[in-house]
Amino acid sequence: MSEILKVQDGQVVLMEYTLRVDGEILDSSSGHEPLEFLQGAGNIIPGLEDELYGMAVGESKLVIVQPEDGYGVIDAEAFVEVPREQFPSNIPMEEGIEIQVTDENGTPMNARIDSVSDDSVTLDFNHPLAGKELHFDAKIVGLRDATDEENEHGHVHGAHSH
Ligand code: ZN
Repeated sequence: MSEILKVQDGQVVLMEYTLRVDGEILDSSSGHEPLEFLQGAGNIIPGLEDELYGMAVGESKLVIVQPEDGYGVIDAEAFVEVPREQFPSNIPMEEGIEIQVTDENGTPMNARIDSVSDDSVTLDFNHPLAGKELHFDAKIVGLRDATDEENEHGHVHGAHSH
């Protein structure tokens, strides 16, 4: 008699999912391979991972993740005002435009133009999904015990093993 596997730490989970934000589908495994990850290793956002414990193959669940357990709350300090004359002339100065800037260490960072005034441009460095409630339709479609090596590495070794 074999035990029914349930999602727990040390399980490799195969999950189909659809992510909706403000009623709009932002991401989905539909038409792709299911998402494969190691439960308990922080491979997926914490608010979703926490709700999967105890689920069996074939079970589905609507998981609503609050911003603090998802992509974070909106950080007021992540808005940066740049004088218009310092703004690169090759980028249109329009609200919502995505730009990439590099910090003092040369690390690329994504930002969006939040607002434009007569003398400055305000950039928003928050994650685009910061402050958003995430609605996941999650369905467990596969479960297996992780190997010792996978548990050690904290991720799944699939076709592109390392
Ligand atoms: Zn590895």
